[in-house]
Amino acid sequence: MTLELRPNCEYCGKDLEPASTEARICTYECTFCADCVDHILYNVCPNCGGFVPRPIRPSKEWRPGLSLSTRRASIKRIHLSYSHDDITAHSRRIKDIPPAER
Ligand SMILES: [Zn+2]
Ligand SMILES: [Zn+2]
Repeated sequence: MTLELRPNCEYCGKDLEPASTEARICTYECTFCADCVDHILYNVCPNCGGFVPRPIRPSKEWRPGLSLSTRRASIKRIHLSYSHDDITAHSRRIKDIPPAER
């Protein structure tokens, strides 16, 4: 099992390269850009709970078989199926609950 590095923000569609420091990810690997997470989602994943910064997989193979070239990023673009209104309501009802209590 390897963390799925998705290629885009699932809200606005912005490209998120594997080395992007703007990528945020949730426990189910839902992926969004920092702008959307901070200003639209209020750190609430539209599919579940909260986010953390996505770790950057090394491009250099420091250990055998463990690098971006051997464990590649996903190229499958993913977009949310919920409406923007639905997502706003979801964020509002959850954003003030600490992540550990959601
Ligand atoms: Zn975005
Ligand atoms: Zn999620």
